[in-house]
Amino acid sequence: MFRAGKDRCRGLLSSAEDERAARRSEKTLLSPFIGRPASDGRQWNAMKRRIQCSLCGDAGYIIDKNNEFCVARLCACQKRCAVCGGSGYIYEKQGGYEVVRECSCTARSRRIRLFNAARIPARCDGTFDNFTPRSKEMELAKMTAAATAQGYQKEHPSRGFIISGPVGTGKTHLLCAALRWLTLEAGVTARYVEISFLYSEIKDGFSHGQSVLEALQPLIEPDVLAIDEIGRGNCKGFELETFDELIARRYNTRKTTILATNFRLGDKRPAGSNYHDPIEAQASPYLVDRIGPRSWSRISEMCHCLEIPPETEDYRRL
Ligand SMILES: [Zn+2]
Ligand SMILES: [Zn+2]
Repeated sequence: MFRAGKDRCRGLLSSAEDERAARRSEKTLLSPFIGRPASDGRQWNAMKRRIQCSLCGDAGYIIDKNNEFCVARLCACQKRCAVCGGSGYIYEKQGGYEVVRECSCTARSRRIRLFNAARIPARCDGTFDNFTPRSKEMELAKMTAAATAQGYQKEHPSRGFIISGPVGTGKTHLLCAALRWLTLEAGVTARYVEISFLYSEIKDGFSHGQSVLEALQPLIEPDVLAIDEIGRGNCKGFELETFDELIARRYNTRKTTILATNFRLGDKRPAGSNYHDPIEAQASPYLVDRIGPRSWSRISEMCHCLEIPPETEDYRRL
């Protein structure tokens, strides 16, 4: 099971819940000291001082959700910055000159905009902290996703990752936790897309005179792109060409791409199979037969391959 609420102050809070959350948060913060002798008073006070805002845990932002997406907003404690007075800039003396530099509160607002532009689905509010692996393969997937996000350098984009596994093994959770870290902690441009939604969005765009390339542009530009549920759909004609084009663009621009799929990685098919046959290919459990060898070859070069065994149970049914 995924444990909820570990990131207490950064968790999902609606405006109406803020006050109750603050009380819960205060209680959680102080709970290690409840029942301790009075001699712990100094430590108690130090702990209390360390976290100034019980709503956001001093993160400066709170994550809410609307009908579709997770939405970050500035915490009330940041509404008027004590450092810059709300102007967003600080004036400093340097070598006899007065220079202006950006206050950290401006960077925070920009990172909130990056998070909101990533379009993380409302159901995916997970973080690395509240992902509980149930097997060594899930542990490796978590470690790889965290290392990719936390070690990301814009100047030297890192290799992405692809996680394969059955439903309910936390693949989307890890994709979204990586995007959350990249936008809010690292200030990186990022975007999430579920492949079948992308196809229907592009088809909708046709009726407004939009080309496939115009529709793909917002997915080519971000530093990091997460594509979920790859291999779904009929994987023929328009869908196959669109997916090939997107992967080719990401590959050519050397941008980090992270992916998740229910299909198996690798291409060790059972003896006697003929997946060149379109009907057999539709029934294949392997991703390569769904997306074709060209995209698979690029993905295996761009990404660390992680496979959660097919027999792993769906956490929603446990
Ligand atoms: Zn706050
Ligand atoms: Zn400021």
